Formats: sequence, structure tokens, C-alpha cells
Amino acid sequence: MQFSERIEKIPPYLFAELDRLKQEKIAQGVDVISLGIGDPDTPTAPFIVEAMKKAVEKSEHHVYPPYEGIKEFRQAVADFYERRYNVPDLNPKDEIIALLGSKEGIAHISLAVLDPGDLLLVPDPGYPVYSTGAVFAGAESYIMPLLPENRFLPDFGKIPSEVADRAKMMFLNYPNNPTAAVASMDFLKEAVAFAKKHNIIICSDNSYSEIFFDGYRPPSILEVEGAKDVAVEFFSLSKPYNMTGWRIASLVGNKDVVNALLTIKKNLDSGTFTAVQEAAAVALNHGDSFIEDMRKIYDRRMNKMIPTLQEMGIKVEKPKGSFYIWAPVPNGMTSIQFTRDLLERTGVIVTPGTGFGTHGEGFFRISLTQPDHRIDEAVERLAKTQVYA
Ligand SMILES: *Cc1c(COP(=O)(O)O)cnc(C)c1O
Repeated sequence: MQFSERIEKIPPYLFAELDRLKQEKIAQGVDVISLGIGDPDTPTAPFIVEAMKKAVEKSEHHVYPPYEGIKEFRQAVADFYERRYNVPDLNPKDEIIALLGSKEGIAHISLAVLDPGDLLLVPDPGYPVYSTGAVFAGAESYIMPLLPENRFLPDFGKIPSEVADRAKMMFLNYPNNPTAAVASMDFLKEAVAFAKKHNIIICSDNSYSEIFFDGYRPPSILEVEGAKDVAVEFFSLSKPYNMTGWRIASLVGNKDVVNALLTIKKNLDSGTFTAVQEAAAVALNHGDSFIEDMRKIYDRRMNKMIPTLQEMGIKVEKPKGSFYIWAPVPNGMTSIQFTRDLLERTGVIVTPGTGFGTHGEGFFRISLTQPDHRIDEAVERLAKTQVYA
């Protein structure tokens, strides 16, 4: 058998070795606590589940959904953007489509925009699907390093102008996975100006916009005046409403880009189950207080974990958004060495920064998506670990 070159080009699964270590520990009887994966531990809100139960009974929902998504869902996204952000003018007709989760749209938008040999600007460390999408399209990725001295924002001034001119698309993601960094309106304005100057499409991945703390509220890039000329935004229901398993998100913004992805999708998939879209519309219209409760849960967990890490000698501040903590590894260890060492000593699994790209070296990520009693147990074990101070 022979397989495609693109399969060969997919980066190797860095966590295979960690998985093996984890299984080894479990076999030894160690109670392993995984703070590795960013998947909310609490269930989808009951009112959303109830809406789904009703929706699934309707036989008119059992046929193929419309490619662009049902009207109620697209209208609910528009209403959400008007209520939550200062974005009152999204047209559900041609500026909003439903996706099978953001991951699906992120992977496929490269097929809509990039030809073989084209250039994509990707943040590193970053969500791996950005560059995998480019691999599928036969395009190249140019890395924008996210460095602590720049508060994990790309430095557009460091991108050579011939690279900027060649680039057709760029991904941005704030609040950021994995660094938990946030972007100011000023930065987003700078990004839009840079994109306009060099004719680059901005894909803003806003997966964590609803998880924020201490009075901070992340903006949408579409709040920047004129952003819709160059930008689209991925807005996912996965993280705010604990709906990762439901597979529902939307792409909003520039109508030509939205239509280009829709064209790809019409030929690849047949949309998200209408009942899921109907329940998702209910979530968007009636979920504000549920998200508020979720923020309180993550805030509480942050307020337990951050001081513990600081007492361990790890130099980290509480982030303003996301349910991640991105921290430098202590004692000059590599990310992998630290991850292994911590697992060995405490049974706690964290993600090595290098899992998100080469510029993740020297860092590790903690995800606060385990039940409170497990977070407490992890905090207790970490607090007893004096070796890193
Ligand atoms: C979780 C996550 C996604 C994927 O979200 P889905 O809508 O569930 O596919 C996309 N981007 C980032 C940065 C994420 O962390």
C-alpha cells in the first residue's frame, strides 16, 4: 500500500511517549491526575440538554440540514455578537455559517484560501490544526513566535516584508491556547492594519472568549473598525457551554471568506445535525448566566493552583483568560524532562510546551478541566513538592 505525502508530513504525535509513561504509572497503581487535556469536566447545561431532547423528537430535523446552518442558529450567533461584543451588524444571510466545531473549519479553511506553495502565518506555540490545515492544502507555514517578552503576541515588525507580501492568511487566537495570553484592542487594530497592508486574511480563533477573570473581557476582532474587510472569526460553543462533544461552532465575518469555506464544506460534509443547531441556538440565547457560573468555577481553580505553583518556585501570574496556565519549567529542565519528572514525583500530568511547537520549549501547560476534588488533590501533591524551588 502507498499513502499520500501529506500523511507523512503530519507532525509525529509528541504525546505517545507520555501516554506510555502514564499507562506505566497506572499499572504501578499510581493515582494519575491528568491536567493535560483541555476538555471541560462539567456537563453541558441542563437547559441545553432539554432543548436537544425536544429538538431530536422533531422528524423535520432528521433530514440533511441546510449547508450554511439553520436560520435560528445563525440569527442566535448574530444576536450573541451584538449583545456580547460591540458587533451589531453581522448579517446571518451571508456572514455566518455553522461548522462541525471550530476544528473542522480551521482545518478546512486552508483548502478554501491556500494553493500549493502559498504561505500561511501561524503562531508558535499554537493549536496544531492551524499548520496541519496548511499541510493538507500543500501550503507552507511561516512561524510567528509567541515570546514571553512580547506577552505571547506576534511581533509583526519582525516579519520580513517579502514574507508578509507572500502570506495569504494568518491565524490569531486570543485568549490563547496554550499560553493563556490575551490581546488588547490596540493589538487587534495593529493586526487588521498589517493584514490590510499586506492583503492577508485574518482567521481569529476565539474559542476562549467567554472564559475570563477579574473584570477583564476579551474582545472580538470584529470590533475593530473595518475588520470585516479582512477578517473572519471562529466562534465555538465547545468551551463556554461544555459542548465539546456536540460539534458545533460558527464562522463569522468577511462574506467572501465565509462563502469560500462554505463552498469547500458543501463538497465535504452535510452540516451539523439540525437538532444540535437548534439546541445551540437556545444555548446562545439563554446561556449567559451558565457561562458566568463556569467562569466562577475556573476562577476558583485558578486561585488555588496559581499560588501553589508560585510557592513551588514557578514564576507564573494568574492569566486573564482561558482555563489554562502556561508556566516556565523550573531548574533549566526541558519541557519533556519536567513533565516526566513531575509525573514521577506527583502522579500529575501536565502538557510539555513543545507539544504546541518549538517555541513552547521551556514551558508547560496546565489545564484546569478536572473536577474540583481532583484539582484539590493535585494542588496538595504539588504543594508537597519542594524540589523545584
Ligand atoms: C478547543 C479548541 C478548538 C476546537 O474547538 P471545537 O469547536 O471543539 O472544534 C479550536 N481552537 C483552539 C485554540 C482550541 O483550544
